[in-house]
Amino acid sequence: MTRIYLDNASTTPVAPEIVEAIMPFLSEQFGNASSIHAFGQVTRNALELAREEVAKEIGAKPSEVFFTSSGTEADNLALKGVVMARLGEPIQIITSRLEHKAVLESVYWLQKKFKVAVDFIAHDERGRLDLDDLKKKLRPNYRQLISIMHANNELGNINPIKEITAIAKSTNALVHTDAVQSAGKLKLNVDELGVDLMAISGHKFYAPKGIGAIYIRTGTPIESLLHGGTHERNRRASTENVAFSVALAKALKQSHAELQQINSHVALLRHVFLETLTKNGVPFQVNGDSEHHLPHILNLSFPIPTKQKLAGDVLLLALDAAGIAVSSGSACTSGTAKPSHVLLALGKTEHDARASVRVSFSKFNTVEEVTEAARRFADVLKRLL
Ligand code: PLP
Repeated sequence: MTRIYLDNASTTPVAPEIVEAIMPFLSEQFGNASSIHAFGQVTRNALELAREEVAKEIGAKPSEVFFTSSGTEADNLALKGVVMARLGEPIQIITSRLEHKAVLESVYWLQKKFKVAVDFIAHDERGRLDLDDLKKKLRPNYRQLISIMHANNELGNINPIKEITAIAKSTNALVHTDAVQSAGKLKLNVDELGVDLMAISGHKFYAPKGIGAIYIRTGTPIESLLHGGTHERNRRASTENVAFSVALAKALKQSHAELQQINSHVALLRHVFLETLTKNGVPFQVNGDSEHHLPHILNLSFPIPTKQKLAGDVLLLALDAAGIAVSSGSACTSGTAKPSHVLLALGKTEHDARASVRVSFSKFNTVEEVTEAARRFADVLKRLL
């Protein structure tokens, strides 16, 4: 049985040309980018070139781009860094319950540790944010930080960041956007979006895991999380990961160059998947915003009767046994698969959340394998429906 990987929103395979771009830095070009000698200069040049490329791709200045170890670190730095730079003043964070845990858990930590005021923007059952509610939630006499993801990793919803930053201007609120899921899929321009901070992560667009970047607009008050050397212009101490920074820059540039081609390919795959499920008589509901969504993410719920008692990740395990790798978007806590916090926040019951999966496509998936995956999917589901 061939295994079919449809979990590309979790991580993508590393593209062969990206592996190739990394290799010289794992062999002859090994110098520490902070060293003064020729070995260091070679890697310093490569690192700064990578920074310039990322900056160009997102419409920023190179001095506003900082490499991190991940999207999670970039989100943590954005939230904790800004709050810590403003300690002593009344601070409000406005976010949504549909954010990734990298944002939500940072926010909860800040709330507990520093008594930061936290408010959540209301949303509807499709996860669309209520911007009138955002206007109402801005507390006067507070320094506000709004953190809303550019696109949702479970539903694929694209959020109206431009409208959010326009609202933010009325009170000089700072805006952070977690663009981890949209980078490489939507053209990102920090000025058009109007954001002050933005997080991206390489492994979502064919670069390796363990490299991310944060955009920090010049003048944004922010403290560092890592102290030590003067790396990344004092924003992030630790010897730079030149190989993976080069990989991230190349992968971002390439994804932008191939954007339309990849997006129409994955949109076709999404269509084929749904058509094949329908042809095979599987009832389903598509979760999320049907108008504004990323083309490669599909979140589906199935009317599995409650008597099936779906414990943990039963559905995912059954699909895995059939050779299909998909995800529930849930986080595993001490070995117990919890239902997705996003689906629960949309008002689904635990059972319905467990009867849901996220299918996500990449440029490497083919129509044939997606058709085959949907057929196998239908066989598994028919046993449960
Ligand atoms: N934010 C979003 C929206 C994500 O989808 C992810 C990864 O799943 C992250 C943040 C975390 O990124 P990383 O895996 O690079 O830590």
